[in-house]
Amino acid sequence: MTARPDHIISRANISDSALKVLYRLRDAGYQAHLVGGGVRDLLLGREPKDFDVATDATPEQVRGVFRNCRLIGRRFRLAHIHFGREIIEVATFRSMRDPADEGDRELDNGMLVRDNVYGTIEEDALRRDFTVNALYYNIADFSVIDYAGGMQDLQAGVLRLLGDPETRYREDPVRMLRAVRFAAKLGFVINPACERPIFELGALLQGVPAARLFEEVLKLFMGGMALETFEKLRHYDLFGELFPETEESLSHEEHDFPITFVNRGMANTDLRIREGKPVTPAFLFAVLLWEPVRRFSDELLGAGQSPLAAMQEAGSEMVYRQSRHISIPKRFSLPMREIWSLQHRFLHRSGKRPHRLLTHPRFRAAYDFLLLRAEAGEIDPELAQWWTRFQEVNGEERDHMAKQGEGGTEGKRRRRRRRRRKPSGQPPHGE
Ligand code: ATP
Ligand code: MG
Repeated sequence: MTARPDHIISRANISDSALKVLYRLRDAGYQAHLVGGGVRDLLLGREPKDFDVATDATPEQVRGVFRNCRLIGRRFRLAHIHFGREIIEVATFRSMRDPADEGDRELDNGMLVRDNVYGTIEEDALRRDFTVNALYYNIADFSVIDYAGGMQDLQAGVLRLLGDPETRYREDPVRMLRAVRFAAKLGFVINPACERPIFELGALLQGVPAARLFEEVLKLFMGGMALETFEKLRHYDLFGELFPETEESLSHEEHDFPITFVNRGMANTDLRIREGKPVTPAFLFAVLLWEPVRRFSDELLGAGQSPLAAMQEAGSEMVYRQSRHISIPKRFSLPMREIWSLQHRFLHRSGKRPHRLLTHPRFRAAYDFLLLRAEAGEIDPELAQWWTRFQEVNGEERDHMAKQGEGGTEGKRRRRRRRRRKPSGQPPHGE
């Protein structure tokens, strides 16, 4: 135990809502601790993302203390205490008994499918993933309780799983992703004994529900360290378990631009997060899946499809294949496919079409995507520059630009080709 004067946690850095929850539980006669990432980040002098509370009160007892409380979860019953938009998650101490016990814990092929046995705080500590995630800040005396050597690992910058690494990864393969995520986020090293099995066990991620992997992927790439996380995932052979088609297309090394494109996309995401700008999973997935989509669309083009039809078919096939691993909700996969489908429309720079594209609800995201493609060297930067300028200039100048169109012979050739296709009865590119 580290007593109050010997650690740097100050209540001033804990959210008011979390403090309220801790005090109310304590005053109702229960144990109440801040636990997990909140304590870890406070001890590192970082701002926690959220605050989790652990208690010996059962979920029903927690509900008895708070009016603004909802019980959630089937696999784990948890209490959510709502304060406006902030939610404080309160979990009852759980144990991780030997699976041979009569307990409530079920293992399926070594994978944990249900554990809902309440336990003591020591037991609760030992079922957690990493030692640095198993520290408790006790509101009763403001001390930090450390059952697993987390304080030392925190100081040394080491991620160490509790218990036997391979067993812990088999129980829950997502812990491999968490190891990589925390290593990138905190700049920690994964202890060698915990690192080694990752190279062997990545395929276990195939057994994790696709909806859970979607949530994990958001945490991996939307935490401000996407680029580093992406590189580490590839280093540990985990990226290919999440995005097999992308990994496959990146490993063809004919060109530099596919990997440059993803790297730039990740760096860009990190920058936006640092600047407080919004990032959407639609754009993120559009970047991650672009290379396989682009290749597939090229194949269909070669087989005689129109650019729009080729991209739409490639997009829908990609979503289908990817959803076997990671399920992307429709509200993200639809805009993602729009970003892809809009790309070929940037080629049309004359007449009314560029004006119309500008008013498309997905224009901004599609244009950002176009910039990335240009930066990565996939397309001529002149095209991206034209569109940047087209947005910046006034209406008169814009009309002038659209009159000139793409300019040069290249533009004229394209326009002629389009006119020739019209009599076939098929509009060149549906709108
Ligand atoms: P952050 O919220 O900053 O991403 P965190 O460590 O708080 O990191 P959460 O997912 O919020 O991560 O989980 C809270 C705590 O629950 C963890 O610190 C850990 O103690 C425990 N935990 C979470 N997921 C697992 C898991 N898969 N296996 C074991 N323990 C876990
Ligand atoms: Mg957390």
